[in-house]
Amino acid sequence: MLFSQVIGNEPLKALITQMVDNDRLPHAILFSEDGSWGAMAMALAVATYVNCEHPSGGESCGVCDSCHKYGKLIHPDLHFVFPVAASKSLSESEKKAPISDYFLESFRQMVLTNPYFGEEDLYDTIEIDNKNGIISASEAKRLFEKLSLRAFEGRYKTVIIYLPEKMNQDAANKLLKLLEEPPAGTLFLLVSHAPERIISTIRSRCQHIRLMPLSKEEREAAGIYARVKPEYRELLLQLFNAGTAKSVIDTFPVWEALSEMGRERQKEWCFYAEGFIRKIYMTASSLENLAELDAEDAGTVRDLAAKLKPGFYETAFKALEGAIASVESNVNPKLTFCNLCNILLLSM
Ligand SMILES: [Zn+2]
Repeated sequence: MLFSQVIGNEPLKALITQMVDNDRLPHAILFSEDGSWGAMAMALAVATYVNCEHPSGGESCGVCDSCHKYGKLIHPDLHFVFPVAASKSLSESEKKAPISDYFLESFRQMVLTNPYFGEEDLYDTIEIDNKNGIISASEAKRLFEKLSLRAFEGRYKTVIIYLPEKMNQDAANKLLKLLEEPPAGTLFLLVSHAPERIISTIRSRCQHIRLMPLSKEEREAAGIYARVKPEYRELLLQLFNAGTAKSVIDTFPVWEALSEMGRERQKEWCFYAEGFIRKIYMTASSLENLAELDAEDAGTVRDLAAKLKPGFYETAFKALEGAIASVESNVNPKLTFCNLCNILLLSM
């Protein structure tokens, strides 16, 4: 992946290439984003750049042996870690302690086809739909083994950890050792959609870089992301319409649609709703300049900021967090989303 192939976030590209050129690149960078705004693409572009044999003008050459292998995601010094679970595609022994390596080929294909994939796309690809993927201690152990070998070819061994917030405590303890005393020439690039959920000891070892949301045009160029989000947006706006009109019956189609989504999409929707409500809250608090409103949402957000009760926000955030926890602990989804919609409606 070249920087020129990463959509948006131009100032960030310039910042990173300068850090590399001046030899000031931290050994662990945490890229965060609320949606699929290109953090994986950015991480791949950084990994390609630091290993390129002939970089110039803030861009990888794209033709050297290293760029060629990074372009296909098959460089022997490039390692991926992502949340997994016991998929039906695994053998019985693999199911006991599933790790990313077992799914590497389908993961590569997915990233090459669409680097703007989301968590649910990952689970669809590796066939663990309706399960919660995790990054386990077995994963951390495997990574430890791989990194204790010398770099095969490249300048850096690059480890890309997708969704480090899915790491359990055991994995975090093991990975922390690697982050505290990284093997020479190792670069960790973390791609998170919920950095506040990453175990704090891991998060504090990384330089945190937040990606900016993509514009509507950039989102369209990014493909699948644009396909998923309108559905989330539509359901949320339907709920606001029902809520501000105090029409309980109009919430029915919303909670029914939400309860029928896969679990990961349900959580994604809750995160999306939190992000959207945060924008309304900032706008209502005269901080609209910080709300990063895009043209599509600005009118709706301002309208809601004027209409909603001041107490709505705290209730909404609590209710959404509660819904996420319920999804994670397998509470009946109809009950979860019926409750959520009612609480939101009553507090608007
Ligand atoms: Zn190159």
